[in-house]
Amino acid sequence: EVQNLSMHYKNGRGNIIRAVDDISLEVFEGETLGILGESGSGKSTLARIVTRIQKPLSGKVVFEGTDIFGRRDYPRHVQMVFQDPFSSIDPQMRIEDIVAEGMDMILGKNRWNRVEEVARCLQKVGLDESLKDRYPHQLSGGQRQRVGIARAVIMNPKIIVCDEPTAYLDTVSQMQILELFMKLKKENGISYVFITHNIRVLSSISDRIAVMLGGRIVETGRTEDIINNPVHPYTKILINAASLNEEESKGNAN
Ligand code: ADP
Repeated sequence: EVQNLSMHYKNGRGNIIRAVDDISLEVFEGETLGILGESGSGKSTLARIVTRIQKPLSGKVVFEGTDIFGRRDYPRHVQMVFQDPFSSIDPQMRIEDIVAEGMDMILGKNRWNRVEEVARCLQKVGLDESLKDRYPHQLSGGQRQRVGIARAVIMNPKIIVCDEPTAYLDTVSQMQILELFMKLKKENGISYVFITHNIRVLSSISDRIAVMLGGRIVETGRTEDIINNPVHPYTKILINAASLNEEESKGNAN
């Protein structure tokens, strides 16, 4: 649960940018909450705060009743999947070590069933176990994103925050990754906060959508209500631009 969260930056001319401006929202167990907004609306800043990469200026994020900055076990419960899974990863690391990294940090390298667990997670995300000895550059974009998902899933999290996880993928890989997210949700009861500018993606996977504009949430609702009856003018523009209404009525959405 996000309570009155704000984060401001100063730009080069000393003006204040309200990247996140008094946002409140809640993610319920087992649901996929889509955060929809265009570039610059504050989505990534929000993602970085709820995953504790960055501290907010004001407001708080509460997980199971306590402030996330006071919880040592938070990384076990809330994981993140990035747009480019390897932008922040050492390219010299083998896939096995990449997937195992989070658990290694928590438990120590030799103090858990590393080989078995990594194999189990690779299989879970649809990758062949033999890929564990490869390096990131030897994988396709879709495979790399699966590794990014495996390294989150291995922690057995309750929530995964996904920041544009399919942005770099072609249409087919994108659909396969979305199917994988849905499979994991069913099998493991994972909740998602799914951040994207792509309303089509959200229409296929999210239960609810929150629309972000200029650091604020301008509209929240069930996905079908947002798509069929958007209230805020900005949401209407986004939906018309994607011509989702028409396609829905023709019955061939996504
Ligand atoms: P989105 O993910 O929706 O594109 P961001 O959270 O990345 O939005 O950015 C929101 C606003 O905050 C933008 O105007 C961006 O330029 C600004 N911003 C983001 N990060 C920083 C930073 N570290 N320093 C200064 N301004 C930033």
